[in-house]
Amino acid sequence: MVYYPDLSPCNYFGRWQEVLRAVGWHESGHSFATGPVSKEVFGALMRLLSNPWQPVALAGHQPCPYCRFTGGAASLQFEDVEVSVGANNLFVPARDEAVVYVAPSLIAHYIDAHDYCPPAVFQEAVLDCPEMRSFAYLKKIKEKGLSVARPAG
Ligand SMILES: [Zn+2]
Repeated sequence: MVYYPDLSPCNYFGRWQEVLRAVGWHESGHSFATGPVSKEVFGALMRLLSNPWQPVALAGHQPCPYCRFTGGAASLQFEDVEVSVGANNLFVPARDEAVVYVAPSLIAHYIDAHDYCPPAVFQEAVLDCPEMRSFAYLKKIKEKGLSVARPAG
């Protein structure tokens, strides 16, 4: 796993680093904020993660660095939502700032199993986020400056 401190610019995708802010890019040896997270926020996060829109899909499964032997479960179920963990990334437009938060799908596992508490601005953005792939969502993503036009050539 690549490590970024929460809310730091994320250059993992080779572009958009001026817009993307990392949330939940943990690695063993680095500590993270812990604390309560409401069921409402977790439920909203799981719904977004069930079918995440991604400007680029990267192959490869990332194991959880904190699950000592198993690397964590490959999928999570909460209420009527099932989410596969370890490959997808979630892009969530910020409420006010002109940035888009990007979180690995492992974030749901970190919250569920390792007491992780994501930054308040991210939790607000998750509650505000329109349905993935909806017109309202894509419009917001574009407004925040995450251009998905294909590079020339
Ligand atoms: Zn784990």
